[in-house]
Amino acid sequence: MNFLTFELIGTYHQNNIQPHTTLPINYLTNTPITIQSLSFPCVKNCITLAGNIKHMSRPQTIKAVFFDMDGVLYDSMPNHEYTWIHSLKEYGIDFPAEEAYMNEGRTGFSTIRIAFEKYLNRLPSREEEEAVYALKTKLMSERPKAPILPMMQELLTQLREKNIQVFVVTGSRQPSLVEKLSTHFGVAASNIISGADVKQGKPHPEPYLIAWQRSGLKKEECMVVENAPMGVESAKAAGIFTIAVNTGKLADKVLLDAGADELLGSTKALFNSFSF
Ligand code: MG
Repeated sequence: MNFLTFELIGTYHQNNIQPHTTLPINYLTNTPITIQSLSFPCVKNCITLAGNIKHMSRPQTIKAVFFDMDGVLYDSMPNHEYTWIHSLKEYGIDFPAEEAYMNEGRTGFSTIRIAFEKYLNRLPSREEEEAVYALKTKLMSERPKAPILPMMQELLTQLREKNIQVFVVTGSRQPSLVEKLSTHFGVAASNIISGADVKQGKPHPEPYLIAWQRSGLKKEECMVVENAPMGVESAKAAGIFTIAVNTGKLADKVLLDAGADELLGSTKALFNSFSF
């Protein structure tokens, strides 16, 4: 966690800097951001997190696992990478592939605002935001279906056989989400927390706090599996042990700096890390 930036966010509160003011640095991506790209409660939460982040050991008795979806259950990030690059290119933005991974978990509009500010030095209009998002959605619908990541169906099956609760916690709002997760992974609708269930998406802790509340367990009986820095931030801010599985293009350090308690290089390694 970058304490310099933590202090800069604190300065925002003390000096009443107006929203839309550019801060020098984003504590996660080391890129310029604006307050507009973070909700106010999230900023407050980031301060809490920066002050309290603790590395934890894997719980001895696990009773629930909360899985992120993109990049953990499905190898869907290459599709997001492709569609972000090509939708933003229409507006003269050369969006590096790595940015798609760094911003994974943000709302689409938030990613568009960040891209415009960073590469065009201005905010997009509402019409531009909607047009880029519509183009990304269209391109996404034309992409091949994302494959299931290795050993993840087996892992979820094994966990349930051991009476370990399985939840999926995703920012996605795809209408087909419930049917897809039920068909591929046997996850019931009541165990899915989607973008439609939360007021604050990742990196805010709300998505993982909802999963924890639904589990009815103690936090020390739960764990999170994430692949994205903002997902790790969200889970750690919720106070839950977090494994980062690096299935994408980011350096391991990015996930560790986001607060991951354990880092694994593949979903196969994740499966093997459980002693069933
Ligand atoms: Mg993910």
